[in-house]
Order: sequence, then structure tokens, then C-alpha cells
Amino acid sequence: MIEYRKSIIPPFLTPNWEKGYLSCTVSVRDLIENDARRITELADTRSKLDAISNSYDAPIVIDCLMRVAGGPDSATGFSQYNQENILGSDESLLSENYMCLELITMSGDEIYRNPNPQSDLFCRPRSLSWTKETDAITLEMYNNFFDEINDIKDDPVIVNVDNIRLRITVEAIYSLIDGKAANAIVGNKNTHACPVCIAGVDSVIGPSYFHSRLNSAEWLIRNAAKKNIPNNPALTNPEVRAEHRKISNNLEDQFKAHVNRPKPGGSGSSNNGNLARLMLSDPTAFSNILGINVKLVENLRLISNLALSSRRLDPEKVQQLYEELEKNIIAEFTFVKKLPPCLHKYKHFFPNCLFILAQLFNIKLYGADNWSNI
Ligand SMILES: [Zn+2]
Repeated sequence: MIEYRKSIIPPFLTPNWEKGYLSCTVSVRDLIENDARRITELADTRSKLDAISNSYDAPIVIDCLMRVAGGPDSATGFSQYNQENILGSDESLLSENYMCLELITMSGDEIYRNPNPQSDLFCRPRSLSWTKETDAITLEMYNNFFDEINDIKDDPVIVNVDNIRLRITVEAIYSLIDGKAANAIVGNKNTHACPVCIAGVDSVIGPSYFHSRLNSAEWLIRNAAKKNIPNNPALTNPEVRAEHRKISNNLEDQFKAHVNRPKPGGSGSSNNGNLARLMLSDPTAFSNILGINVKLVENLRLISNLALSSRRLDPEKVQQLYEELEKNIIAEFTFVKKLPPCLHKYKHFFPNCLFILAQLFNIKLYGADNWSNI
């Protein structure tokens, strides 16, 4: 058992203090090799591989491409155990993650496809560091990650499965990141500007949708409160603040959950993704309480669910849906000239990993025929 576990755990490089903080890293090459080996142990994948190899002459060497995603995020809440200053610092954990999206042959045959690339289920740590997430560290991680990716392009990973040799090259996107990390990578100092727009269409930076639903729902509540006060002042205005609390109270009555309450014992609010999903699950009740167009809430519910789903989507339909959402928001909140990043990022479905795959390999995209069920 121990031997088996050793065989599936990629080796971490020796933890080091070189940069002034404790960190350990797995090489991208080891992660890819480990993933490829484990993938080929799956019965389903193995039978696909056997079928593909039938058309090859011995010795069987199959050129493959693995597509992967990476990116860091800090995990506040994990505090370093720091008894008697042994470790000398009290920073939280910054974890850089990695995920295999798919493994295909160079001629386009699918060997493995990650069943849900929007889930953290298939994420593996690439590095763990006890340090604050700074722009410089994020940028360094990004550069190191792509240096390793480029090395593998020059010198593919070799994995032998019985008499089959897989020669694996790699393509990567850095999409397991939030807006803060994306801004650090593209050098964007304006948090109201979109890093994906700044990076351009060929960029390897992807939008992350993990917090979008919550941020968008909170934005709607704030702006519904502003909308009801003449001249639409900021939330710091006492009248807007009172209206915001009134709307939140009505939402609490309707959904039987805390809305915009301070987090017990900490900073920030008790709102989370589950609350946002709960509120958006009833567009009629939510829009009535906010006094806004129900269609707008339906648009947001649909697009936020699509962004987190594992479906392959029709880009044109998603684009239409985004444009409708944008139009409804601008019409509803006449004092809003530009959508905030949490809503604007739905415009970037295209750079999302599924669409990059589809574009590069002409994979057929499946239209979601019955979106109302999502
Ligand atoms: Zn953008």
C-alpha cells in the first residue's frame, strides 16, 4: 500500500527557505508524467489507447498533447503553526494549483478528458508557500510555470504503458486564478479594468468564475439600493445604506438565510456562493424584492450556471446571452455606464479553457439545447 501511494504521489522538491519563506514545489514535468500514468491506468482510457494503437506499427510511439491549467490562490484561514516563533513568520498559505484538462493524440483522438474542469476535484498542488500573495510572487510563479511548459515542448515527457510509448508535449493556460492574480500578471493597477481584455485574445490568462456569482448577486443588491434613492449616491450615503439593509432584511425573510451580515468574529460578510445560488434560484422573488427586471436575474442565473458547468457550450449562444444581460443591466441601472469585473467577465467565455480547446482542435461544440434546466 505504501509503495502504491508513493507511486501515485508526485515528488515534492525539498522544502526550502531560499526566498525567505518556506515553500515546496513539484515540477510540471513530474505532474504531467504522474497524471499521464494514472490516466492510462483507468480502464476506459486504456481501452481507448489500445484501440488507437491498433493503427500503429511496432514499436508503438504515440505523439500526444496534454492540455493543462495552472494558477495560484491564497488560502487565508490556513495559518502557519507557529509555536514559540520556530518558523519565524505568521503568513497564510499560498497554493499554486495544476489541473489536467485533456490528453489527446496529435491527430486529435481523445485519450482522456477531464469530466469537470470547473471543479477543484481534479486540482493538484503545484507549489505550496507560507507567504503573502504579492504581485511579484504571482508573476514569478507564472513565469516559472511557463518556462517549464516551454521546456517540455522542446523535450516531451515520455510515459511507457506496456508496449506503448507516449511522447507527450503540453499546452497550458493560467486560468485557476482570481482577478488579483490576473492583474498582477498583466501589470494592471486599475481593479475596475478587466485583465483579460488588457491581456488580449491570444493570452493564456483566463477568467475565473469561482466568485462571480456571489460578487454579481451582491452587486445587484447594492445597486438596487442606490437605484431607489434620488441621484443614486454611493453606498456610504446613509439613505442608500438604510435601503440596502431594508432589501437585505426582505431577502432574509424570503430565503431564510443571513444576507449582508458581518461574519462572526471576522472581517467581511457572511454571504457566500451558496447564498447567491439560493437567491438566484428564484428569479421572481429575488427580482421582486430588489425591484428590478426579472429577465435580468434569469440571464444572470443562466450565465453564472453555465460558467461553472462542465458542458461544452455554443459560443454564439453564450455571447448572445451575455449581450442580453449587459443590455438589461444598463437599462435597469441607468447610472451604471460600465459593467463591474464580476459581471463583465462573462463576456470572456471564449478564453475559457473549454473554448480554447474547441478553437484549437475544431472540437464540435455541443449547444445546450435546453438551458432552462441548468
Ligand atoms: Zn474583459
